[in-house]
Amino acid sequence: MTQIDPCMGEREEMVEFQIRARGVGDRRVLAAMRKIPRHLFVPKGFERAAYEDRPLPIGEGQTISQPYIVAVMTEQLELKPHDRVLEIGTGSGYQAALLAELAGTVISVERLPDLAERARKNFARAGVTGVTVVIGDGTQGYPPEAPYDAVIVTAASPDIPKPLIDQLAEGGRLIAPVGPRECQDLVKLVKREGRVDKIPLGGVCFVPLIGQFGWKGEDSP
Ligand code: SAM
Repeated sequence: MTQIDPCMGEREEMVEFQIRARGVGDRRVLAAMRKIPRHLFVPKGFERAAYEDRPLPIGEGQTISQPYIVAVMTEQLELKPHDRVLEIGTGSGYQAALLAELAGTVISVERLPDLAERARKNFARAGVTGVTVVIGDGTQGYPPEAPYDAVIVTAASPDIPKPLIDQLAEGGRLIAPVGPRECQDLVKLVKREGRVDKIPLGGVCFVPLIGQFGWKGEDSP
């Protein structure tokens, strides 16, 4: 028997009024956001808030990003079905679940083991396959599966970590929030014939990217 999704209506409204109405028009991105059950990626007790126009806490001081920002970043990656994608900052796993709908291979790196484990559970509950979660410092990228057609960084750093640019394929796109600790500029890089073009996409506020090529954390040397 087909299970009825109790949040389908709320998800449809989220896509229509928060995302499509604000100018995200890529049909594949909108379809993926209609499909992925965001309420299965938020902590218990937050399910009703999952489709609201804001980020939500996911524990460990981290957040699942505002749906609109997720949509903008995903659209800007210009994903094709066979693309290889690297995400830095798995968090809840919601962004990675969308990437898995739109691309061929998805590697997602998370620095906090508890969040990585929770994301894996969320994928199982939501029936998402095709995401490999790696625990580690994503500022170093993930060389074993490089190069990537797209790289998305979902935590903010003072500059774009160089290993991520190095691991981008020819023609590849990279999206990252870059700037001061509190709020930053969303930046898109496109690698063409070895050159990297930089396109600013507007202001955002993300949690810090902590690691060798990001901010120093309390546990850093
Ligand atoms: N993409 C996530 C989602 O869909 O829920 C939201 C990510 S949350 C805004 C940022 C995440 O980046 C946190 O889970 C944080 O632990 C992680 N993070 C911070 N520094 C990192 C690093 N160097 N490597 C990997 N993950 C990192």
